Amino acid sequence: QTTPTSSTPRRGLLIVMTGASGVGKGTLRERWLAGQDVFYSTSWTTREAREGERDGVDYVFVTPEAFLDKARQGGFLEHAQFVGNHYGTPIEPIEAALARGQDVVLEIEVEGAMQVKHRMGEEAVLVFIMPPSLTELRRRLTGRATETPERIEKRLARARDEIREAHAFRYVVVNDDLGRAVRELQAVQQAERARQLPE
Ligand code: 5GP
Repeated sequence: QTTPTSSTPRRGLLIVMTGASGVGKGTLRERWLAGQDVFYSTSWTTREAREGERDGVDYVFVTPEAFLDKARQGGFLEHAQFVGNHYGTPIEPIEAALARGQDVVLEIEVEGAMQVKHRMGEEAVLVFIMPPSLTELRRRLTGRATETPERIEKRLARARDEIREAHAFRYVVVNDDLGRAVRELQAVQQAERARQLPE
């Protein structure tokens, strides 16, 4: 019987939530992480802030020039374009959190999630959030009232492509019942922590 003597903390989990815009990733994440000491990565984006969104909290809102500069310097873990705007995950705060043993959660679209998968390999825990149906997704996007009908159609077209990629991810959680979906995310986190246990 050996007693662990090392003071090195275990690395945090890198959990990537992905799925179509409007599928409820944000609400799920808030419910799931409430009261947990998890590092939620604030993305950079070139899109305009919606009413009520706070710079540095919901996103860091930047110009295309600032975004592309950071991308050229290798400052993003991943970045992608989504319906005419750039979105990216700054790499430094994530590396720091993982190294101090804190779990990290990203909430990003599918192309960026695939980049994380290729870059981080096994370490990335990829969770695809599936809408109950495309009809329901349309209803949710329309209900948001922050997008023009044209942009809603673009988001729905993108959603169809994204859903085709679902098989590439380790877990799929259907967001039809919020409470159940949150419990499934908790189970994923628990299972992945158990996988990390030393021999
Ligand atoms: P929204 O404009 O609705 O805030 O976000 C549009 C899409 O971009 C959503 O699917 C959202 O999850 C995704 N997104 C947000 N931040 C990032 C990011 O840093 N990288 C990538 N690849 N997608 C992101």
